[in-house]
Amino acid sequence: MLSGPSGVGKGTVVAEVRRRHPDVWVSVSATTRRPRPGEVDGVHYHFVDEAEFDRLIAADGLLEWAEYAGNRYGTPVAPVRAQLASGRPALLEIELQGARQVRARAPEAQLVFLAPPSWAELVSRLAGRGSEPAAVQERRLAIAQAELDSSGEFDVVVVNDDVARAADELVGLLTAPSPGLVPG
Ligand code: 5GP
Repeated sequence: MLSGPSGVGKGTVVAEVRRRHPDVWVSVSATTRRPRPGEVDGVHYHFVDEAEFDRLIAADGLLEWAEYAGNRYGTPVAPVRAQLASGRPALLEIELQGARQVRARAPEAQLVFLAPPSWAELVSRLAGRGSEPAAVQERRLAIAQAELDSSGEFDVVVVNDDVARAADELVGLLTAPSPGLVPG
């Protein structure tokens, strides 16, 4: 499971994993956030409204979920179960609160922390995103600081100094014989 601060490039690294290693299965989260330009429903996220998200929680349909910067995000549990039942690893890209929930429910899951090469680099990446108001960026930066402080909770730290290299390192961890990335 891949986590790490906002702006560190988790989405970019996972997109690179999909491009270079199309055989790797990546979980598609549900979110109440509005789609950004270029995001496709069912591919990048399942975009749902608040009522649908409430229904997913009530039906115990989420492996984990968290509120992040004013929106809710969660991992649909059924596809993950089906994937693991087939004996192959599942890659989840989630924020820290969700990672902690997965750790509690599945202690054997491998938690990978994606770290920026430096704090200055992270700040400039967050500022460079540009698609969001300054207040939202500031909120993400505060969350990022707290998330960086918790990297010690993770099994492995991968530094995102180069997207292709980080993607390959992540896939190497996924396909390593032991420990598996998530419970089987
Ligand atoms: P973004 O809005 O930038 O796509 O995602 C915001 C944050 O939510 C990122 O840190 C991302 O990793 C996290 N996230 C995406 N999907 C999930 C999920 O299913 N569960 C949790 N807990 N976090 C998620």
